[in-house]
Amino acid sequence: MSQTKSETKSYSGSCHCGAVSYDVALDLAGAIKCNCSICSRLGAVWAFAPRSALTLKSGNRELTDYQFGKKRLRHRRCTTCGIETFAEGTMPDGTATVGINLRCIDGMDVDKLPARPFDGRSL
Ligand SMILES: [Zn+2]
Repeated sequence: MSQTKSETKSYSGSCHCGAVSYDVALDLAGAIKCNCSICSRLGAVWAFAPRSALTLKSGNRELTDYQFGKKRLRHRRCTTCGIETFAEGTMPDGTATVGINLRCIDGMDVDKLPARPFDGRSL
């Protein structure tokens, strides 16, 4: 497994149909694979950042706001193509955060990232 050093860089991401697009500053060293009921269905690999790191370029009106369980996260899917490009939440200290579905980042080889398993199912 290759080592990803801690470094924040700018990336661009989009949904499948292109209605939703964004730029985001991310540190890939914190990438996770979660086993909760939604992530195991989605197959997403996530990286979290402060909400302020995300700049939505298009698609604000196309986004659904799906919540379940303890409603800690707002799962934001494109109404046209159904792809969840990111999820918004709030940390216990009140900080607005965003989880980016790394599979939606342009040109990213997600399978080469050393994503850590995260036991979201137990939360
Ligand atoms: Zn779309």
